[in-house]
Amino acid sequence: MKFAQKEIVLQEVPGEVSICFSITGCPLKCKGCHSPYLWKENNGELLTTDIYKNILEQYKGFATCVLFMGGEWFPKDLEEFLKIAKTFNYKTCLYTGYNAIPDSILQQLTWLKTGPWNPSLGGLSNPNTNQKFIEVATGKKLNHLFIAS
Ligand code: SF4
Repeated sequence: MKFAQKEIVLQEVPGEVSICFSITGCPLKCKGCHSPYLWKENNGELLTTDIYKNILEQYKGFATCVLFMGGEWFPKDLEEFLKIAKTFNYKTCLYTGYNAIPDSILQQLTWLKTGPWNPSLGGLSNPNTNQKFIEVATGKKLNHLFIAS
């Protein structure tokens, strides 16, 4: 699979410094998508195991979580990359536009964000959102962590 961006992000997973990979080939094509360049599978750079491991090594001791924006449409690859992240002692998170994902991926995750983008309902900081941020081990919905008090 290919990634369009690799960034360090602070807000997508509360309390964590995350290495965030944005994976191309998103089949959901949500209306109002903020990142349509992610739709084409050929956009971006091939995420090889070597490139991935080098990045994980580089941020060890600084970043605490590996976050994938998509990639569940390559379930075997994603499962493998999440397993590798865990061997480096990173926590793991997936932002998916689907409402559910295969168990094989779920088992490798610390957190999961579900739900397509709906401009009239907004993202996780909107109390009316259709999206959910879930702690996988407990099944707890943690959307309240995204809402400013
Ligand atoms: S899931 Fe995300 S990247 Fe894919 S179409 Fe929807 S908003 Fe765009």
